[in-house]
Formats: sequence, structure tokens, C-alpha cells
Amino acid sequence: MTNEMERAFYASDSAWDGRFVAAVRTTGIFCRPSCRVRKPLPRNVSYLADAIAARAAGYRPCLRCHPEASSEVALRRIETPVGAMTIGATESAVVLADFTERAMMPAQLASVRRRIGPTTYRDARLLDAAESQLADYFAGERRTFDLPLEMPGSAFQERVWHRLRAIPYGETMTYRELAAAVGALAASRAVGRANGSNRLAIIVPCHRVVAAGGGLGGYGGGLAAKRWLLELESRVAGPRRVPEVPRRGGRMTDQRSWRQATRTPTSSYFHTTSTAANPAAVSQARCSAVVSGWSCSTSCGSGSVGSA
Ligand SMILES: [Zn+2]
Repeated sequence: MTNEMERAFYASDSAWDGRFVAAVRTTGIFCRPSCRVRKPLPRNVSYLADAIAARAAGYRPCLRCHPEASSEVALRRIETPVGAMTIGATESAVVLADFTERAMMPAQLASVRRRIGPTTYRDARLLDAAESQLADYFAGERRTFDLPLEMPGSAFQERVWHRLRAIPYGETMTYRELAAAVGALAASRAVGRANGSNRLAIIVPCHRVVAAGGGLGGYGGGLAAKRWLLELESRVAGPRRVPEVPRRGGRMTDQRSWRQATRTPTSSYFHTTSTAANPAAVSQARCSAVVSGWSCSTSCGSGSVGSA
């Protein structure tokens, strides 16, 4: 067993995360098997059952791999009209929904393992719920999600992610408005990065953040997917102001018939009004997080986002 653990630790094999921790005598730190910090000499490492045992032996948790994060995460790949997604859930919360093919996906999975726990592809009750609610959303039959969510991040990321949840269905705000809304106008790039590192695409609607002047800005799932989502919401919610943005490439499944998987290009992209243009609207924006069981530490004052 020790040989297997040693092999797993030196191979940074994440399949062993949650099954043991490696404690390093020379530094007093303990790690997950998958930790990417430079490996110590084998003679300085002992293998312990879990974080509790390592704490009891006087070791401190590694700040890189967060070895005390230990909820197992079930993963599933699902097909959607805007491309394959990977969703993830623990026993108590949905923790991942992101585009399988996006370049950042390996980093997103690594962050789930680091901050929440080891991942395996298997069934879970909340994966069924998330898949079914996403299907309803794509069919234009659902505007808000009723799922317990957990998305631990830095305090700054959590502030941005929380604010995203207050952008109503069918509406958009600009990156600059988002930066202003989280009190970080001077840090709009960091706001953009936090937006892009959202691990719960669609459910936490980072696609509703667009460039100033009517451009789409960026999107982890690709701009064609972002346009598809905004068109869907605009059509379902009913357009408000409708300056038309010219289409550029990207054929997506027609929103009205995606369940039949036809490949009809959609008509136009309706850019709707922004809530953040009106400060009163911002302060009145309801914290949808509370409704769906996602508590948060920022403007709504309903508790703390983060891992349990
Ligand atoms: Zn580590």
C-alpha cells in the first residue's frame, strides 16, 4: 500500500486524492497526492490516512493543494445546444458547469479538486437535477435555477460571481458596469478574469456581461455560444431596446428546436438594457442566490459563499 501511495504521490495522481495525504517531515506540511509543489525526497515523506491524522501529527495543510478539501465531486458530461458541458456536484451542492472543450477546462477541474475535493465520473442526485434544469433553460422554459451551489474562490472572485447572479434573465451589463458594481472600477481586468473563471456557466450568468458599445466581449464557451444564449433569453424575455449587432460566423442549433438538433442559424442578436446603468435598479436587484440556496457574504448580507 505504501508503495502504491508513493507512486501516486510522485506521479501527482489525482485519482488518489481523498484516499491519503503525504506529510513532509522537513517542512511540516501535508499535501494531496496530486499536489504540484516540488516533491520532497522520499525518505522525508510519510503517508497518512487523511487530513485529520496529519493535523493530529502536527502537520499544517499545504496552501497550494488544500488537502483538507474533501467532498467527493461527481462529474458528468452532457450535450447542450451550445456544445458539450461538464457538470459536477457533491452530495450537497452543484459545484461545476462549464464547457468541456474550453481551454480553461483542465484548470477549472484542478480548481474543483483543490478547493472542493476529488472528482470521479459517476451518478449523483444533484447531477440529475442540474442536467434537467439546464435542459429546461435551453428549451426556453426556465429563467432561474433552483439548485444549491457551492463555488469557493478568492474573496474577490466570490464578490464578482455573487454580483453576476443579480443580472436578470434577458438583460446584460458591461464589464465596466460589473467592475463598478463590485467596487473595483480600477480593476476591470481582474473583474474580467474573475468573470471568465466562473465555474458555473449559465447557472451563474457570466454570459450576460458584454463589452461596451454592443460588442459581445469574450466567453469561455465561445462567442457563438454566448450569442445563442443572449438571443434565447432576449426572445423568451421579450426584447426591450433592440439595437441589432451584426452576426459574425458561428452556426448554432436553432433555439426553438434544439431538442430535435436541427442546425438552423438564428436571426439576430438583441442587446437588452443594462440594470447597472440605473443605480436604483442595482440596489433593488434581488439576490437570486438566496432563493436558490446559494448564500453569500457581499451585498445581500445573507451569509458566506464558500466551501463548507
Ligand atoms: Zn500541496
